[in-house]
Amino acid sequence: MVGGGYVGMYTALRLQRQLGAELRAGTAEIVVVTPEPYMTYQPFLPEAAAGSISPRHVVVPLRRVLDRCRVLIGEVRSVDHAKRTATLSTLATEEEGAGAVEMTYDELVIAPGSVSRTLPVPGLADHGIGFKTVEEAIGLRNHVIEQMDIASSTRDPALRDAALTFVFVGGGYAGVEALAELEDMARYTARYYHNVKPEDLRWVLVEASDRILPEVGEEMGRYAIRELRGRNIDVRLETRLESCEDRVAVLSDGTRLPTRTVVWTAGVKPAPSSPPPTCP
Ligand SMILES: Cc1cc2nc3c(=O)[nH]c(=O)nc-3n(C[C@H](O)[C@H](O)[C@H](O)COP(=O)(O)OP(=O)(O)OC[C@H]3O[C@@H](n4cnc5c(N)ncnc54)[C@H](O)[C@@H]3O)c2cc1C
Repeated sequence: MVGGGYVGMYTALRLQRQLGAELRAGTAEIVVVTPEPYMTYQPFLPEAAAGSISPRHVVVPLRRVLDRCRVLIGEVRSVDHAKRTATLSTLATEEEGAGAVEMTYDELVIAPGSVSRTLPVPGLADHGIGFKTVEEAIGLRNHVIEQMDIASSTRDPALRDAALTFVFVGGGYAGVEALAELEDMARYTARYYHNVKPEDLRWVLVEASDRILPEVGEEMGRYAIRELRGRNIDVRLETRLESCEDRVAVLSDGTRLPTRTVVWTAGVKPAPSSPPPTCP
């Protein structure tokens, strides 16, 4: 099994149930190769970022759930499906300086998921914040609170405005939910600051198409926009992020937003290390 994410974990779980007798008899073995010892339930990342749920409730420890599988922490580097071999690097191969090891298999499940799809937007690689892992979600929460602390303690109005401006690029599930949850959290948190009011915070959602949340249909998308705008969130449709250098986000409608926070949730692409799904 390549990957112990949502697909990999559930596939291994079903297999270990179905192959119970063979696994006990030692005539079958399920090996899950994945870089982290836990599965991240990504739909709960926005709630974890907002502090509504604990980070440990967003992850599932693979060894506990897949107790009849072999969990190997590492990455599959390549697959030779004709020979039924996979080359993997593990934490041990790195420690030993061994490079990689080869493993044979009968059946291969490829589930390496996706990574953020970045575009060649100047400044994005250096300043864009992703939102796909529990570390990024908690990092973003801390970052937002840190910006409120900066705003609270500076005497420079320009720095204060930039610290309190949060730009999210991409109006899919990840961007909309992350923005909405964090705005909620920051609005609540503002009550503990003597000089930061909820209305001082500026939240901007930048979406290239003419709608948000395409997965839920047009009517629900329009409803979500009304709700967000009702909360004073600046939703910009048919607008792209042109650049985010020197702490200024420049949008395709000409707006320049001094900001220290650009969250990039504008889509995903296949995991780069994905072994090619070759077939004989
Ligand atoms: C913020 C957010 C909110 C979301 N909300 C929803 C929602 O409400 N509803 C919904 O349906 N979907 C939602 N999604 C999408 C959903 O989480 C994904 O579709 C799902 O996680 C995909 O599962 P996967 O197993 O393909 O990939 P992942 O869960 O990403 O798992 C892939 C795993 O493979 C590992 N891996 C990668 N390369 C290798 C390699 N070479 N060797 C070994 N392992 C490797 C990765 O490290 C990872 O652990 C959301 C996503 C995000 C980011």
